[in-house]
Amino acid sequence: MSLEFLIEKTSGPGRRGRLRTPHAEIETPVFMPVGTVASVKGVPQDTLEELGAQIILGNTYHLYLRPGVETVRKMGGLHGFMSWNRAILTDSGGFQVFSLSELRKLTEDGVTFRSHLDGSSHFFSPESAMEAQISLGADIIMAFDECTEYPADQARMRQSMELTARWAARSKKYFEEHKHNVPWKTPLGKEHVATAAFGRVTTGQPKAAVPTCFERTQSLFGIVQGGMDRALRKESAERTIEIGFPGYAIGGLSVGEPRELTREIVESTLEHLPKDKPRYLMGVGTPEEIVEYANLGVDMMDCVLPTRAARHGLLFTSEGKVSIKQARYVQDQGSLDPNCSCRVCQRYSRAYLRHLYASNEVLAQVLNTIHNLTFYLDTMRRVRHSISLGEEYRFLSGVWSRPAP
Ligand SMILES: [Zn+2]
Repeated sequence: MSLEFLIEKTSGPGRRGRLRTPHAEIETPVFMPVGTVASVKGVPQDTLEELGAQIILGNTYHLYLRPGVETVRKMGGLHGFMSWNRAILTDSGGFQVFSLSELRKLTEDGVTFRSHLDGSSHFFSPESAMEAQISLGADIIMAFDECTEYPADQARMRQSMELTARWAARSKKYFEEHKHNVPWKTPLGKEHVATAAFGRVTTGQPKAAVPTCFERTQSLFGIVQGGMDRALRKESAERTIEIGFPGYAIGGLSVGEPRELTREIVESTLEHLPKDKPRYLMGVGTPEEIVEYANLGVDMMDCVLPTRAARHGLLFTSEGKVSIKQARYVQDQGSLDPNCSCRVCQRYSRAYLRHLYASNEVLAQVLNTIHNLTFYLDTMRRVRHSISLGEEYRFLSGVWSRPAP
């Protein structure tokens, strides 16, 4: 077994747990910052560690094009290449390839697509997407799926869901036959190594401290598709579970559908996923949404929103959203968020952040991103704490509240 998941406490459908991966033990529910090209834009790795990021995302499509998976493999995989010794998850590249709707051709075998960088032609199949992800060496990798567009008719949603099920079986077969090619088979020096008593993590222990039942290799998650149809989602979940994975993701959401529909599909899909396995909701959402989904029983989430919004001057605070470009902040001496303990809020005024943004300074992007990531990571810390207390908190417009009994 290369992944262990332990649920410590539940509160309604929400769960607090710990996910043990080869590189780190992760407290769940967890928010995973997105590091598309082996970089969380604007934030150095030591700062990410300081902010408490436990696991970050890498993007197979982008890394495959640049610098290329062989380069990353030769550097010891993503962990060695980007000097990150905590956990990493890579997506399969499916979502990015399917967003290139003008530049791709789909067959049963896989997808031919054109690079957004230079127009060159490439081919991804379940097998080649697994090969690329094994070379990148993330702790958790994803099956190659087809992300169904929205809106789509019933026939299209079914055909797409069935293709994803067949590709999931091919992904697993290739992964099982090749997973030992992961680029970090040898001990990695001062990494985090879990001890025999799952739960205690020490730094720099020799590899021998890992119990033999814990295999130091990657884990492959399956992805549930089925568009916006609840029956197809159920069928997709059942077929994916039948193939068998150590964790399950809900894909194909946040593709333009109304938020109420996203929630409805998430809630109904969760009912069909095994309770004892981690559940990962892909590409979602606002601070309010990540709290809501964690309370529904989602264990892992990722989203480009905190980092992308930060680069556009949109900041999430305990008092609601702040658009730092606005003239009202020109002489505002207050901190960005008086309830935030991040290094940005502790040190700089809104006036200075507004000035940096208006002057198009690189520092604006760095500081804004540090604050937004802190806000997301702190939000998840709060959710974990509230589940521990057995209390379900809601989070609306930046304000935490407990629903009336
Ligand atoms: Zn802050």
